[in-house]
Amino acid sequence: MIDYIIKTRMSEIKSHHKPSTTYSGKFRKIKIDDFMFFCKKCSCVWASVAPFIDRIKWRKYPKGNIPSYGKTRKKCPDCEL
Ligand SMILES: [Zn+2]
Repeated sequence: MIDYIIKTRMSEIKSHHKPSTTYSGKFRKIKIDDFMFFCKKCSCVWASVAPFIDRIKWRKYPKGNIPSYGKTRKKCPDCEL
């Protein structure tokens, strides 16, 4: 289950930018930054959260709290609806 999610995420990440961690079964080493995105529509930083951490699966951060620089541009689930 967890393994499946990680693999799905990793293939998503690979299509956007170079992964900063090497995936070799050690999913604990994946940096949270790799799961953070910047939504241009509502100009917020949001992050996908592993379901075993949070049932909602993603979180939105208040504006200004986290720099959007270097974040992958991706619509947040709110704006995708
Ligand atoms: Zn948004």
